[in-house]
Amino acid sequence: MSVTPTKPDGDLVQLEIRGRSTEANRRAASGDPRPVQHILDRFPSGGRGRPWVDVPDEDWNDWRWQQRNRVTTLEELEKVIDLTEEERNAFEESHARFHMAITPYYASLMDPEDPNCPIRLQSVPKMGELLVLPTDLEDPLAEERDMPVPGITHRYPDRVLFYITHNCPVYCRHCTRKRKVSDPSSAAAKKQIEDGLAYIEAHPEIRDVVISGGDPLSLSDERLDYILGRLRAIPHIEIFRLGTRNLVTLPQRITDDFVYMLRKHHPVYVNTHFNHPKELTEEAFEACRKLADAGCVLGNQMVLLKGVNDDPKIVKELNHKLLMARVRPYYIYQCDLSQGISHFRTSVEKGLEIIEALRGHTSGLAVPHYVIDAPGGGGKIPMLPSYVVRRDGKQIVLRNYQFKEFVYEEP
Ligand code: SF4
Repeated sequence: MSVTPTKPDGDLVQLEIRGRSTEANRRAASGDPRPVQHILDRFPSGGRGRPWVDVPDEDWNDWRWQQRNRVTTLEELEKVIDLTEEERNAFEESHARFHMAITPYYASLMDPEDPNCPIRLQSVPKMGELLVLPTDLEDPLAEERDMPVPGITHRYPDRVLFYITHNCPVYCRHCTRKRKVSDPSSAAAKKQIEDGLAYIEAHPEIRDVVISGGDPLSLSDERLDYILGRLRAIPHIEIFRLGTRNLVTLPQRITDDFVYMLRKHHPVYVNTHFNHPKELTEEAFEACRKLADAGCVLGNQMVLLKGVNDDPKIVKELNHKLLMARVRPYYIYQCDLSQGISHFRTSVEKGLEIIEALRGHTSGLAVPHYVIDAPGGGGKIPMLPSYVVRRDGKQIVLRNYQFKEFVYEEP
């Protein structure tokens, strides 16, 4: 079998492998489907929750079936978990302002008997959501203020945030964009996307586009292909970043066809949002593998959440598993000041304690940036434990992760 690089066909650069069918080429394009077994052993399958044990694999592995069969009512939820009185009341009180939706896959990760299960805390309403503190803000990051046209936040000169949908497979209870996510009346219309593309086209200083939402992977491959193609045709655009939680909540969405489409638009960065090691299942690993094999650069943006991951041991385990799945831990976000998420907020001290427990105690690759996205649109501000003990003229006294002191002499 010989491999011949061919001229681009249209805008698609591919390798033609003689003797292989198009389908085989397509599968090859998304990588060798056999992961290394000793790695895969650490990623148990997510399994099936009570209502779905008899669903055929063909349906279960189909992302559209997962979307169609999301758990959205109290009656459906009761079939999956043993609901507490608090969860029942919280659903009834909160449903009108922020819908509940959970894919069967993600719902299957919930512990039916434990109301403090980290997956359950992220997806089933709690009474804390009804509490709005005087310090809470509707739009804490001032994303709407820096919006020159609907659907584009342009705060830094060289990059923009482009919202292309307000739907997500699972509506995370800690979502910072509760003000518009899950509300179908606020969905980005076709015209809004066209206006956003026109804005990016007209601003040559923009080189980096963060495509977000909601979850952009809620759109079809064809629609995404169109938007990415339009962006790629703009000469000043260098990179895209896709912000998606589908790898966590609906890994079946990462199909061979999807990654085959993405390869046309490289360089593509994918930032995802794993918050707990339990979310790194065999299915999630496979989604990461397909994207990484297709040449995407993967990063994780964890949100620090009380009761879910406010423990250095959990974060270390999460980050080690992410690295095995070829996802670089990129950020830990301090939970921001959005309304209805104060029950998830930890102290900043807790975040610093986590960084202190990682830095030096594990590979630097497993140590993300801990940041506060400053209220009012100040941007991400890094938070670090202090490693400078004192300055003495040209001498800087530093301490390492074991609290041993060392002197660095400046020239
Ligand atoms: S996937 Fe992201 S945008 Fe959607 S609900 Fe979760 S946190 Fe919000």
